Amino acid sequence: MTVVTMKQSASVKDIGAVIRSVETLGFKPHIQRHDGTTRIGLVGEGSHDQIKNLLSLPGVASLDPVAAPYKLGSRDFRKTGTEVFVGEIPFGGKEVIVIAGPCSVESREQMLTTATGVAKHGASVLRGGAFKPRTSPYSFRGLGKEALEILAETREQTGCPVVTEVLTPTEVDLVCEYADMLQVGARNMQNYSLLEAVGRANKPVLLKRGLMSTIEEFLLAAEYVLAAGNPHIILCERGIRSFEQFTRNTLDIAAIPLLKQLSHLPVVVDPSHATGRRDLVIPVALAAIAAGADGLIVEVHHDPDNALSDGPQSLTIDQFSQLMTQLDGVAKAVQRTLGHRKSD
Ligand code: PEP
Ligand code: MN
Repeated sequence: MTVVTMKQSASVKDIGAVIRSVETLGFKPHIQRHDGTTRIGLVGEGSHDQIKNLLSLPGVASLDPVAAPYKLGSRDFRKTGTEVFVGEIPFGGKEVIVIAGPCSVESREQMLTTATGVAKHGASVLRGGAFKPRTSPYSFRGLGKEALEILAETREQTGCPVVTEVLTPTEVDLVCEYADMLQVGARNMQNYSLLEAVGRANKPVLLKRGLMSTIEEFLLAAEYVLAAGNPHIILCERGIRSFEQFTRNTLDIAAIPLLKQLSHLPVVVDPSHATGRRDLVIPVALAAIAAGADGLIVEVHHDPDNALSDGPQSLTIDQFSQLMTQLDGVAKAVQRTLGHRKSD
């Protein structure tokens, strides 16, 4: 992919003329504006041999190739970090943002009790699965539409935006009616028709790293969403499968600074699925923020021993409160602040 960087002095007319020329050459223009500079990425198959002619158009500063296979998600395309807003909550800025809630929405009472508990202790965004991808078809697979209605009520009661997983392209519109962010789960990271469907949606996307995916595959999955026209993506490192048996997955801690280096997208960490163990969630969460993550997604349940899914890795509300207290210190140590604490 080639990126056209416009001069700071370029006029709206100059930019419009470049966009039209890019389209005439057969490319789809992807436009980024930051700090007064407009950059236009040329996506798709067009007349590559004629790209150099763009250099003679008024207002064009330079043409630069993006060598990485992931293009729009790469730091070569956008030098500064992207902020993604979920409702009014900014991911990828100075603030460390915490998403919390149960693995699955089990009932109205369970969701509201857990949600008000975590919101009180500083969670900014709430989670709760409505459609659950379960390893066994006989496990609890979520309440579906009823859970979406409960999530909408939870948002109303707490004022916090909600994220929930979407499993199939045909359910994207339905989930968009209720959720503030669409989660694409680890098992679906390479479901390319789902990635394209959420790429056409008008909601931010939380993209989880596949169980066995390389970082390049992860960034290419994000590229599907970006190329389909949705620039609002948050990457989530949630551990990958290894030979280790004591933990459910193995958190790739180096992936955090590496993803931040390779891509401009925000990165959050899921210490719950990464470890599978409640006793490891707090230290791993603290390490993730120390390593540069922009936030966390943590499973919390008001009664984890009786949870219908992922109880062993779910924090109690008290443990969540301890996590937030400790996180405050770690965030400050890495020159960040813990975002939007409702109790402050
Ligand atoms: C979840 O968030 O509950 C979940 C199923 O996560 P993952 O896709 O990372 O396994
Ligand atoms: Mn879970």
